Amino acid sequence: MSSHTKEAGAQRIGLFGGTFDPVHFGHLRPAVELAERFELDKLHLVPNHRPVHRGPARANTQHRIAMLELATQPTDHLVVDTREALRDEPSYTFDTLSRVRDESPEATLIFFMGLDAFAQFDTWHQWEDILTIANLVVVGRPEAAHSAFSAALLAKQQSGCGERIRDHYCGVIEQCDVTQLAISATDIRRRIGQELTVRFLLPERVTEYIVQNQLYLPPQ
Ligand code: ATP
Repeated sequence: MSSHTKEAGAQRIGLFGGTFDPVHFGHLRPAVELAERFELDKLHLVPNHRPVHRGPARANTQHRIAMLELATQPTDHLVVDTREALRDEPSYTFDTLSRVRDESPEATLIFFMGLDAFAQFDTWHQWEDILTIANLVVVGRPEAAHSAFSAALLAKQQSGCGERIRDHYCGVIEQCDVTQLAISATDIRRRIGQELTVRFLLPERVTEYIVQNQLYLPPQ
């Protein structure tokens, strides 16, 4: 896999995709740490519309976007990118990255994914082509483990976190450790369904939004 050398002074743009159903500190803390570590100009949080690799989201697209907006409002560098969420068709990472590449031809693009997602990267649409337009950073996640495929792919590419990506336009894969927070949206939805507290798992204003809009309650 070839990787072009980055133009001096080019922008560094990160993308972090997910269902964000709802967004929580397990997304947000890694996002700010990665934006800092990779000196990103922008980190796009990209909620999907119809997840390709899993079942439908519980909260609708508008709610998931609204919660992300509330969560990121006070944070420089984090932007909510609604391009996938507002398209009424499956969202493929390759297409999204291609569009960002067209908008910013000189930028270094970094796609961040949790280790759980990377373990299945070989099932992703055009996964090899993704590496021709972007770099990939695998974010360690509690209780997630490599598959044989992902361990082998990473071993081929391994270097220190952030070292090579700073100079490369695309094609580099690195694993990066961030503060580990064993929080999942599934667990948050379960707690809300059982009327348990979700305090300190996600931003207070997102919790208020969930309560106001009666999200994640069990069907009556
Ligand atoms: P669910 O429990 O519904 O599967 P989730 O909490 O895993 O949701 P997603 O929206 O599916 O959240 O995750 C988006 C991205 O964030 C994925 O790449 C996922 O691996 C990563 N991620 C989610 N939670 C964490 C966490 N606690 N630590 C590190 N990465 C995380």
